[in-house]
Amino acid sequence: MADPTEAEMSGVPAPDGAGDPGPTSIGGRKLKPSTLMMGHGYDPMLSEGSLKPPIFLTSTFVFPNAAAGKRHFEGVTGKRPGGAEGLVYSRFNGPNQEILEDRLAVWEEAEDALAFSSGMSAIATLFLSMVKPGDTIVHSGPLYAATETLIGRILGKFGVNWLDFPAGATREEIDAVLRQAASAGTVALIYLESPANPTNALVDVEAVAAARDAIFTGDNKPPIAIDNTFLGPLWAQPLKQGADLVVYSLTKYAGGHSDLVAGGVLGTSAHINTIRLMRNTIGTICDPNTAWMLLRSLETLELRMSRAGENAARVCEFLAAHPKVEKVGYLGFLERGDDARQADIYRRHCTGAGSTFSLYLRGGEREAFAFLDHLKIAKLAVSLGGTETLASHPAGMTHLSVPDARKQALAITDNLVRISIGVEDADDLIADFAAALDAI
Ligand SMILES: *Cc1c(COP(=O)(O)O)cnc(C)c1O
Repeated sequence: MADPTEAEMSGVPAPDGAGDPGPTSIGGRKLKPSTLMMGHGYDPMLSEGSLKPPIFLTSTFVFPNAAAGKRHFEGVTGKRPGGAEGLVYSRFNGPNQEILEDRLAVWEEAEDALAFSSGMSAIATLFLSMVKPGDTIVHSGPLYAATETLIGRILGKFGVNWLDFPAGATREEIDAVLRQAASAGTVALIYLESPANPTNALVDVEAVAAARDAIFTGDNKPPIAIDNTFLGPLWAQPLKQGADLVVYSLTKYAGGHSDLVAGGVLGTSAHINTIRLMRNTIGTICDPNTAWMLLRSLETLELRMSRAGENAARVCEFLAAHPKVEKVGYLGFLERGDDARQADIYRRHCTGAGSTFSLYLRGGEREAFAFLDHLKIAKLAVSLGGTETLASHPAGMTHLSVPDARKQALAITDNLVRISIGVEDADDLIADFAAALDAI
């Protein structure tokens, strides 16, 4: 029998990864995420041999003795370094969420991960844990609309400032914005989103990290966080390009079945612990049932995303050659386009083009609506990354309230349709799009 851990000796329930978490390598071979998704972080022998983790529906957990209870709260409140150990109350953590967090971290080889009740609650908890009045957030633009609202209209009310640079900015442009922000006070956070929606412009994370490291030193160095919802974790892994934290709406590709809302943050233990303290305080953790559903989703993540990516490549080839199509904004076409810089970022940062893209039809709103209304397989809905193909009209839906000048700048025109390709049969999808284009 192995020596008891300090936690076991103190009588505290064993921390994260209790029991046998399963192998992570065999014969010196490091196991791939798609293998680890079936069992990593869960020991069936702790749950009656149940192959799959039970859903732990409980609001609280029993302490083995009073000292263990005190020790836990010393961890939760930061009185003892190392954070909370074991399970105590479901606003802080739970078995299903901890297994989920272990498996999320695997995909990007992150030190740690946190699960949240939505992508926005993940982002809000991250911001609240990092910024104070007078600080500046420097961010790439455009961002997911609710994230822009959160920074500009909500954190703005609490005296937080912001400065942005366009998603496709060069090193020189990023340097200039960071210097301007630094001269005005504390830069608490650099927040990125790549590719930007709906322009699909990629952010040069390596350039952002180099600019940050050149301009800030020591404790003044702001962490770099990036929303990786559109390409992660299969096609982009920004921790490898110098980001400290990666943010997800798990509602999209990670959940992948359009049947749940959740979020995640992955990154270095130090930053994750800072965010965990805020999550413990405000209770933005996801519920056990959602965590369990996400565990099921992660088992097929690679299969689903690979198939969706292959389907999107076929559909985009078809659409790009169609006479009623003006342009297809698909990352897979960067290599053959005329934007050498974006193509270069794509080669350095991405291993796939994703399955969400912009379709510009010849004409305007009338043509776009006719196309959307004639689709039979693709459903007319916002969101993305599900098993089913979705289509929407940004100018008339998600971006309806965006001022005209900004719409123009972001190329959100009346003939733009956003499409997220699912895992259906590619030829069936092409037939659906062909028939809808004919009907315009
Ligand atoms: C959907 C989305 C979010 C918000 O996530 P929710 O799960 O809806 O809260 C944030 N960022 C991006 C890029 C998204 O697509």
